[in-house]
Amino acid sequence: MRSKRIFLAAAVCCGTAALGPVAANPASTGQPWMDARLAPGERSGMVVQAMTLDEKLKLVYGYLGADLEWKNSKRPAESRLQSAGFIHGVARLGIPHLWETDAGLGVASQAGPDVRPGTALPSGMNTTATWNPGLAYGGGAMIGAEARAFGFNVMLAGGVNLVREPRNGRNFEYGGEDPLLAGKMVGAQIRGIQSNRVISTLKHFALNDQESGRTTLNARIGDQAARMSDLLALQIAMEEGNPGAVMCSYNRVNGVHACESSYLLTEVLKQDWGFRGWVMSDWGAVHSTVPAANAGLDQQSGMPFDLADYFGPPLKEAVLNGWVLPARLDDMARRVLHAMFEQGAVDHPVKPAPESFDRKAHAAVSLADAQEGMVLLKNSAGALPLKKTAKRIAVIGGHADKGVLAGGGSSLVTAEGGNAVAGLEPKSWPGPVMYYPSSPLKAIRKRVPSAAVSYHDGVDLAGAARLARSSDVVLVFANQWTAEALDVPSLSLPNRQDDLIAAVAAANPNTVVVLQTGGPVTMPWLAHVPAVLEAWYPGSNGGEAIAAVLFGEANPSGHLPVTFPASEAQLPRPVLDGYPEVKDLRFDVDYHEGAAVGYKWFDLRGEKPLFPFGHGLSYSEFALSGLAARVKDGALDVSFAVKNVGKVAGKEVAQVYVAPLGVRWEAPKRLAGFQKVDLKPGASANAAVTVDPRLLAMYDSASKTWQVAAGDYKVILAADAAGSKALSQVVHLEAATYDVRGKRLR
Ligand code: BGC
Repeated sequence: MRSKRIFLAAAVCCGTAALGPVAANPASTGQPWMDARLAPGERSGMVVQAMTLDEKLKLVYGYLGADLEWKNSKRPAESRLQSAGFIHGVARLGIPHLWETDAGLGVASQAGPDVRPGTALPSGMNTTATWNPGLAYGGGAMIGAEARAFGFNVMLAGGVNLVREPRNGRNFEYGGEDPLLAGKMVGAQIRGIQSNRVISTLKHFALNDQESGRTTLNARIGDQAARMSDLLALQIAMEEGNPGAVMCSYNRVNGVHACESSYLLTEVLKQDWGFRGWVMSDWGAVHSTVPAANAGLDQQSGMPFDLADYFGPPLKEAVLNGWVLPARLDDMARRVLHAMFEQGAVDHPVKPAPESFDRKAHAAVSLADAQEGMVLLKNSAGALPLKKTAKRIAVIGGHADKGVLAGGGSSLVTAEGGNAVAGLEPKSWPGPVMYYPSSPLKAIRKRVPSAAVSYHDGVDLAGAARLARSSDVVLVFANQWTAEALDVPSLSLPNRQDDLIAAVAAANPNTVVVLQTGGPVTMPWLAHVPAVLEAWYPGSNGGEAIAAVLFGEANPSGHLPVTFPASEAQLPRPVLDGYPEVKDLRFDVDYHEGAAVGYKWFDLRGEKPLFPFGHGLSYSEFALSGLAARVKDGALDVSFAVKNVGKVAGKEVAQVYVAPLGVRWEAPKRLAGFQKVDLKPGASANAAVTVDPRLLAMYDSASKTWQVAAGDYKVILAADAAGSKALSQVVHLEAATYDVRGKRLR
């Protein structure tokens, strides 16, 4: 045994060193709440006491931080240029403004001439595919540092909507299809962001799982199924990350707009889970004053996006005439202040002018994330890693000569160097289609200076095939642009790229496919190519990351956070409801699959996917052994060993699934734990996971408890949800009851 090391956390580049000054001595200011030694609850309570009605109202009313010509509206002068949001603070009480920026992949800008160039992380799907919470934390710490440097104290980051719908245009922003994995990874990112004293925002609350008709659709799902799926992902992310804010979503849930659902906002989030921060609306998601305020919405965002200024003068009137109680307005303001105190927005104010940051160090964070999240889907006949002895290499398609693709919408970060492929449609919202200027072609050429590396754009299939025929190896790049506000029509690659790959593979069997997609795509050509690398949207250094993985400088260790279906017919909704979108059409989406999302649905139906959840190959080989599952005081502990039996160093993701033998769950099995292990060749390591009891239970809506049924359960250790390398052991669990937060009752 050579080395023994469990991979826990990636190096984190960005600490809290560059934070602003701590506020002045409270005694001298006459503002006792400025005493940072006091608890946030106490401090926020004192400020609310000192506030006038108008000051409270200001704190719950947000503006877009950009001019909006079509609404004839100007941003507030104090807002940051082309930013997502702004809320007035209360200067006389030492409460700073809130400056809000999108989002989960870095500091984004609203459209216009003055975008701020930032570092773009790879997509959230990519980060989740690392199965490495340390990397997610490091990425969060990096983008949070940039947010602070640009003068923002709120990041609208922390997207954890489950992939119920693989055609959803925003899947790239989120954490995949499993509540445990998504919750842990996005929660870690939130923690990283907030390590900069920047408030992070868990979103979109809840069940905003498709973009078509997002502002009008009604998601239909029962309480039990929701608590065991989408809500569980949000709950775990909240527990892991302790976000200061939560953003309610555009859609309706069981007939009620999410931003005026007392079930979602007050009952589930605030009462059951104990959330102490504030709920802000999504931009344009408010539909009322009294119902929304009384249901638990604490702040209207992004005016003038909503039809009316519901939390402006109408809220004042509602408070004055008693439709909204003064105590409720106090609660709204207190919640905003609580998060500001708890997360350091008051004690560590942001600077008025942008500060510089270490762009090189930040690029390294993005690069490491991209490399570790790419998933080697197929690799036969030793096609990868590429040999540096290849003489003639063809690079075809995907604008690989220029850069790498990014997803569209509010999360789009404009990286340094701008758009490498400007002018593609759509040019305006949710465009522009953006390519970061990190060319895979250049990165490949750099690694094989004596080879002839030719590029073909792939538009003329015959020309591409000709180049393929005269090459030793072909790298064909195929891309799928996805974006906010827009689902994809199908899981097929667009623009005849399936035909391109088929034509190239027919011309040269030594064809490696590199995909840049928001999520799953179908692959009719799969049997005809030896290797496929899923590179997602790899961020501002993606070209380098792709080349490093192709040449084996980085050993791929990403595993799918989402099932790749063989066809749309396998999905709970073979036809996407409400697509193509008809403006203002109200319709239902029936989540009849309940909590059986993703691989759980496939298991339940006995469907074989193209690639299962959890799948991912390596240039090394790993063996799993020594599975030992123990039940102690009702808790399930699982230990095991992982050995690198291959020739190169690498990381394996050991996955623990649990399947009930007698009892019925929503699906045959659930992911119950995971551990990423970093091993030199020949080395092995012991690892262990303790299973969250909620993952062994069914939620009971009537008693608001998680109930574990007595019985036998199979504990499976495997390298994917299809059971590759599976070992298993049966354990007996006694009946047990846990409260709504997963705390043991009996
Ligand atoms: C998106 C949010 C985003 C907000 C502000 C909305 O369209 O749904 O995720 O944070 O805009 O830009």
